[in-house]
Amino acid sequence: MTDAPRPELRPRVDRKGKAVSPGVGIGTAYVIERREVAVPHTKIDRELIDEEIGRFHAALKLTKEQLEAIKAKLPSGEHRQILKAQQMMLRDPDLRSRTEAKIREQEINAEWAVAQTTDEIRARLGEISDEYFRERAFDVGFLGERVLMNLAGEALAELSPPPDSVLVAHDLSPADTAQLHGSTVQGILTEVGGQTSHSAIMARALSIPAVVGLEAVTEDVETGDMVIVDAVHRTVIIRPTEAEIEHYRREAERYADFEAEIQKEHALPAVTSDGEHVTLRANVALAEEVPAVRKHGAEGVGLYRTEYLFMNREDAPSEEEHYRMAKRVLQACAPYPVTFRTFDLGSDKRSAVVPSPVPEANPALGLRSMRLAFRHRELFLAQIRGLLRAALHGPLRIMLPLISGAEELESALEAVEAARDQLVEAGLAHAEKVPVGIMIEVPAAAIIADTLASRVDFMSIGTNDLIQYTIAIDRESEEVGYLYDPLHPAILRLISAVCEAGRAHEIPVSVCGEMAADPRYAWVLAGLGVRELSLHPAGVPVIKNIIRASSIDEMHALAAEVAKASSPREARKIVMRRMKERFPEHLEHGAGVESGDEESAAGGS
Ligand code: PEP
Ligand code: MG
Repeated sequence: MTDAPRPELRPRVDRKGKAVSPGVGIGTAYVIERREVAVPHTKIDRELIDEEIGRFHAALKLTKEQLEAIKAKLPSGEHRQILKAQQMMLRDPDLRSRTEAKIREQEINAEWAVAQTTDEIRARLGEISDEYFRERAFDVGFLGERVLMNLAGEALAELSPPPDSVLVAHDLSPADTAQLHGSTVQGILTEVGGQTSHSAIMARALSIPAVVGLEAVTEDVETGDMVIVDAVHRTVIIRPTEAEIEHYRREAERYADFEAEIQKEHALPAVTSDGEHVTLRANVALAEEVPAVRKHGAEGVGLYRTEYLFMNREDAPSEEEHYRMAKRVLQACAPYPVTFRTFDLGSDKRSAVVPSPVPEANPALGLRSMRLAFRHRELFLAQIRGLLRAALHGPLRIMLPLISGAEELESALEAVEAARDQLVEAGLAHAEKVPVGIMIEVPAAAIIADTLASRVDFMSIGTNDLIQYTIAIDRESEEVGYLYDPLHPAILRLISAVCEAGRAHEIPVSVCGEMAADPRYAWVLAGLGVRELSLHPAGVPVIKNIIRASSIDEMHALAAEVAKASSPREARKIVMRRMKERFPEHLEHGAGVESGDEESAAGGS
């Protein structure tokens, strides 16, 4: 008698990645094959060019209809917005005109032209070190793939994961993630992606635990394998043992209870136990993130990064476009204010419509932000005119990025007044009084904050850049990233000085850098005197929970102790010790994990 063939025993594997949506999930893998579309390359006869362009238009139309059909099945909210963004990308003149020009000039088939164009757009976006733009490169790729499938007459299979699946993919397209609404997906694993990828945004919006950046994970897993996604400790276990499954089931329950507890308070005001209000607002870069602001209990928007409006297009946004966009956002966030930061381009955030005139050796110290806006004064004035007009529809605030001194500020304020004069001259209705504030991102600005404060209505500390410039570390560099520390004594002193200047001039001071999103640092910031924090929408409930459970006295005492520390490490020890005493459950549920403090988060000292 011969033995029946034994299934090959594949070993247990564990991996570490980036946790972009917290939680613990257990399920069976549903692997989405990397879809690579074969792209034919043929020359076409000159007289067939118009017909070929017609095929291209028909494929675009079909793609639009398919996205529309997916969108129609969904309730309003982020999902629809993301599909809308894809549909807008389809209308992008860059995609259309470049593809048509290629078909016409190179006399090639539509497939080849589409593939070339999407590769070019992706390469351009992919070169930018800012994570957001790299993610948009993936989106363009997904869209190109769909158009190519339609040109080939093949239907792109839509997702249908069985109940309680863990999705495993190279990356998920916006159309994929949109179909997850109402599903019972327990987790998401992708090979690429980061905090701002659509997969991450959607996973957070749907509260599905997700770990990304797991290189070649689709090769480790097969559909049907058991998978554990521990997006609290950035761990993934493929084919776990029975004991591990048991352990993680309990962990998943504990996490769900914690979440439910936190969510209970999301709509309550962020008031400390001794009655002090710490305003929590949201950071937004994409129109599709706007619905999440209200959903997570943020009081409006503390930082709207308008530079994304200038990307991936051939012409700059007009006054009218700024006006309409800002009006929509204000209406969605009413009655709370929305702070629009004027375009902060240059350095790692590049736009073809706001180019830097010369290549620079040190772009982070060069023509970026306000300095670039002065070079493109007409675009800046158009944006300000649009915003001043939109301010008739709600509490709008204008925020100027990377101000480094009093004269620069005066020039920027003069430009705002010049835009207002243009509106008066044109007879266009606009708000008379719009608060204008500045970002404090340069050490020089923090040091002279008392001088600058006398000229503005509010100040917002951009700790991402303030840390970069104060400690002299490129915020994108992996080599020197270990020096990047919000608890560096120099940073804490600068923040205190800005708060002091704000108090003296009776203007609000907020923090809108990533520092505000970490529960440990948010606690210290409130203790240093910051009364407004702005962070990604999904992070708001956790920070609110900590603020509501703390007293101002307690946070002051902590900040005073931390301020005396002579090194970031010493400061961190103090914060972690207190955090362990006061909020052990937050540490157990991931506070500090993303920044690599797992040992402390897991309870080590
Ligand atoms: C900052 O620098 O902290 C900030 C909020 O601006 P950005 O990250 O967009 O440079
Ligand atoms: Mg900045």
